Amino acid sequence: MPTYLFPPPPVAAVPVRGHAELFPINRLFFVGRNYHAHAVEMGKPVDKSVERPFYFTKAPQTLALSGTTTPYPSETANYHFEMELVMAIGKPGFRVKAEDAHEIIYGYAAGLDMTRRDLQLVARDKGRPWDLGKDVEHSSVCSEIVPMPGVVIERGAIELSVNGAVKQKSDVDKLIWNIREIIADLSLFYHLQPGDLIYTGTPEGVGAVLPGDKITGSVDGVGEVALTVGAKA
Ligand code: MN
Repeated sequence: MPTYLFPPPPVAAVPVRGHAELFPINRLFFVGRNYHAHAVEMGKPVDKSVERPFYFTKAPQTLALSGTTTPYPSETANYHFEMELVMAIGKPGFRVKAEDAHEIIYGYAAGLDMTRRDLQLVARDKGRPWDLGKDVEHSSVCSEIVPMPGVVIERGAIELSVNGAVKQKSDVDKLIWNIREIIADLSLFYHLQPGDLIYTGTPEGVGAVLPGDKITGSVDGVGEVALTVGAKA
């Protein structure tokens, strides 16, 4: 066994419904602009006939478990929620055909892609990387994973509220690139691995939160996610 100068970083992991064992996180992928109404509210409509999906990643260290309180991050004045259906990958897959995509699905979760929107938009408009806007500490919020091996989710209400007021309300059937298409496309670029999570994109209605706000969200047939925004870091 190797020895280390200091303890290696802990493994990021998520509880699994019905299991004592945790789901260890390998990578966190995020699909950008995957609901038409959200793409429009961001000022960047999508024409699927001439575009391909695009992605960004966050470090596993950005994982935050549902039900926790996380600090309002530094260097932002516009911290946004994005409610998303999260796919959990359970088998290796490279160049997976859309019709075979179900074979590598372990299950699903409800998640939040929390975002420093002000910094993301500056980066976007200056052609810079999105990391400071997206790869935010504690910003990849994930519910327990619900095992549904081989299941392809095609519909289901997706909703988010802040302090009990509904902010986002849509249906997973409005995904521009659906579950099969995301796996087929992303696996052209990456050897997908057990432990990968894919956040599938957010519907319209994104907005800012402030310290003390309580976010709750749900995906019908999957589960619920909750986050309390804590004091400024
Ligand atoms: Mn997102």
